[in-house]
Amino acid sequence: MLLFTPGPTPVPEAVRMAMAGPTIHHRTPEFEAIFKEARERLMRLFGMDECVMLASSGTGAMEACVTNLCVKKALTINAGKFGERFGKIVQAFGLEHVELKYAWDTPASVEDVKAALAEHPDIDAFCIQVSESAGGLRHPVEEIAAAIKAINPDIMVIADGITAVGVEPIDTTHIDALIAGSQKALMLPPGMAMIGLSNRAVEKIGDGRGYYFNLTSEIKKQRQNTTAYTAPTTLIIGLNKMLELIEAEGYDKFYSDTKARALATRAALEAIGCQLYPKTPALSMSAVYDEEANALRSILKTEFGVNIAGGQDHLKGKLFRINQMGLIPVYESAWVVNAIEWAYDKLGRRPYDGTASKVFNEVYYANEQQ
Ligand SMILES: *Cc1c(COP(=O)(O)O)cnc(C)c1O
Repeated sequence: MLLFTPGPTPVPEAVRMAMAGPTIHHRTPEFEAIFKEARERLMRLFGMDECVMLASSGTGAMEACVTNLCVKKALTINAGKFGERFGKIVQAFGLEHVELKYAWDTPASVEDVKAALAEHPDIDAFCIQVSESAGGLRHPVEEIAAAIKAINPDIMVIADGITAVGVEPIDTTHIDALIAGSQKALMLPPGMAMIGLSNRAVEKIGDGRGYYFNLTSEIKKQRQNTTAYTAPTTLIIGLNKMLELIEAEGYDKFYSDTKARALATRAALEAIGCQLYPKTPALSMSAVYDEEANALRSILKTEFGVNIAGGQDHLKGKLFRINQMGLIPVYESAWVVNAIEWAYDKLGRRPYDGTASKVFNEVYYANEQQ
């Protein structure tokens, strides 16, 4: 079965092999050497001043950013399940909260953010997804971050890049915390989250807050190539291998391959009449609005060996989402759009004529040759 859900994503064989060794103790020079390499590679991936690895799923890193970087009032963007989650975290910690709510296909606007800041001058943190996975939406994060910093550089910009870091280059000039998760674009098993931090963020964290997710304790330890508590050693070994694989070919190639696959998939889907859901699609996944999404996904699974994701909440049964994150062999992506075209035929929507494959190949190779 081809795993084509936007997280978890398949783990490449070389990475699985690297993680198959005996468990090593985390307080040893042997592990510290691996940690150091992984940390240096992670710094290059984020392109930021500092980074930490946390033994938690991505939500733990969202919580750590909120508790360590927001003291007074947070402005959160809710254009889907993950943006809504930032709001719930803020409320769980009793912090003041302003939420800008959008339909799941609609990106946040710079003007709305500026207006909210003008109305609430005590906002000291801003939380947003780079790619909101609920609807496969790309927010204009870099533009909003620049506008926020022009108004007040002390406002901490927290960007959830769980389906964006490792998908496309992100301009972090105005971002203070950028979150990544192991099981999405980084193609590792679930269980680890990573945060890239600016020097401004490290300063604001100060003595840190909380206990397990106290980023000051973690930064202090991780600068010494160890972790405050038991490290997820196997995942860090896997991360080191994964980033080594990506670096061997170079980030430019990694990003351009992902983009070429995403654009080719988008074009192929449109060519067979699919209705792309988000107004500003992310490169991490292709989301299609389809009233027959459940029937389609079931045909893909049982007849074509392809597992894609559906929608959540009000879009349950009305959306399907195809992953684009990771080192995906292009022939697998080509098979997925071909299978969708066949499923449309079986649902009586459109007779199969090979259009999806043809358009996918044309667009993919046009982009690859640039
Ligand atoms: C998957 C995901 C998360 C984190 O989810 P976990 O289940 O906690 O790993 C957060 N934000 C986005 C945008 C995601 O796609």
